[in-house]
Amino acid sequence: MNNRFQVEFHFRNALIFDGDGTEPFKGDIGISDGKIDFVAPAGERSEVISDKEYDLLGMALAPGFIDAHTHDDHAVLDPIKIYPKLSQGITTIVAGNCGISLPPLTLNGQMPPPPLNLLGNSGLFKFPTMASYRKSLTKNGHAVNLVYLIGHSSLRIKVMDDVNREANSEEIRSMHNLLTQALNEGASGFSTGLFYPPNKAASEEEVVGVASAMKNHGGIYTTHMRDEGDDVIKSIDESISTAKKAGVPLLISHHKCTGRQNWGRTRETLQLLEEHRPSLPLNFDIYPYTAGSTILQEDQVSEETRIMVTWSKAHPERTGQELGDIAREWEVSCKEAARRLKPAGAIYFQMHEEDVQRLLKSDIAIIGSDGIPEDEHPHPRLWGTFPRIIGHYARELGLLTMSEAINKMTGLPAKVFGLGERGRIAPGHFADLVIFDPKTIIDKADYEKPKVPSEGINAVWVNGKEALYSGSIRVSNAGRLLQSDFS
Ligand SMILES: [Zn+2]
Repeated sequence: MNNRFQVEFHFRNALIFDGDGTEPFKGDIGISDGKIDFVAPAGERSEVISDKEYDLLGMALAPGFIDAHTHDDHAVLDPIKIYPKLSQGITTIVAGNCGISLPPLTLNGQMPPPPLNLLGNSGLFKFPTMASYRKSLTKNGHAVNLVYLIGHSSLRIKVMDDVNREANSEEIRSMHNLLTQALNEGASGFSTGLFYPPNKAASEEEVVGVASAMKNHGGIYTTHMRDEGDDVIKSIDESISTAKKAGVPLLISHHKCTGRQNWGRTRETLQLLEEHRPSLPLNFDIYPYTAGSTILQEDQVSEETRIMVTWSKAHPERTGQELGDIAREWEVSCKEAARRLKPAGAIYFQMHEEDVQRLLKSDIAIIGSDGIPEDEHPHPRLWGTFPRIIGHYARELGLLTMSEAINKMTGLPAKVFGLGERGRIAPGHFADLVIFDPKTIIDKADYEKPKVPSEGINAVWVNGKEALYSGSIRVSNAGRLLQSDFS
């Protein structure tokens, strides 16, 4: 008997989406030692001997989904909190986004300044180095793979006495060194959140000064840009210029055009991005909804934008209610109501469906949920992003093919993050897999009932282990910390 045909697990008769965007085919795969051993047309390998065989007739098999944008820095350690991701077929998450990361910041019981409180309470900020965070990941175990970014706001709060000004050269050097150290200890890149107070005062030069730590080491620059509304073009220019000067690939976070007056401007933004593609590795991530979600900020509140409260420290009983209704009840303006609710989180209904669809179709778009796991009444993107794109946008609307949709959540993000043998169904690749019913896969979470698992996901495998089957967690420690390799 030829050894090649002896495998641990044999999956037969699946509709295989291999992650590269090509049309699916009916095939079989074998898995051994956490990796894909062979891929073949259905029935071609008749003499396979396996410990366990699965007949997947009628089911689709794809590489596990990569969630390119998350705030699961803490949630990754908790199987219950990471369940919304696993239940969507996600096997790898990227955390440390929007300028906020746990390491290397320690807070010693102080309240994390917004937006760092999106990650949870002060007790979580206890990792002085990426190495200490990594140790905790290893010790605790985690259900999905993790790619980690170091946040500029976290570095600024650690290094500067006052974050409301630009960093001086010594502080820039300190942040640069901290980033270098984190990259050496397992981090994969650097994120900014120039939109947010602790990061806002940073100039382009400051960001370049820190980000250039990645030039020799390798790493990706991701940015929640300074402005996603009236000044979105200016912000894209700044992001491109920053990445070019620092000599690193660019990923624009949760790209959107906010505010009624900017609806339709994704035509301009896509054109601008297109122009720069030849000179810079350039992508953006996106979630399939017309509402965004973050902390509740008074300067983001206007009477014409519908806003829903996702949590409030001052008035927890208002969670899930509309800001307009609260303001009317209190007989105050929406801004005043926001002030009274803070610290709080919110969902902002601020995008146009046509923009969302135009961006989703772009061939530089990858999928990131941007879900906020700590929110009491979260944006439904936390539970529904990936099945919504496959079920609603591909199958129901035909906006893109299922293969194209899956490529944006597997093969393409694996390339963007330099994840070598991930994101494809190919021999030698890691067995991160999702098995789903292509006829029924769909999101079920909505703004009113956001904590509802998606339908149609049959099983999820992480590094050759069955992590989830029929909605139940089977193995909760198969994930690994992955590091980008752009060499
Ligand atoms: Zn963000």
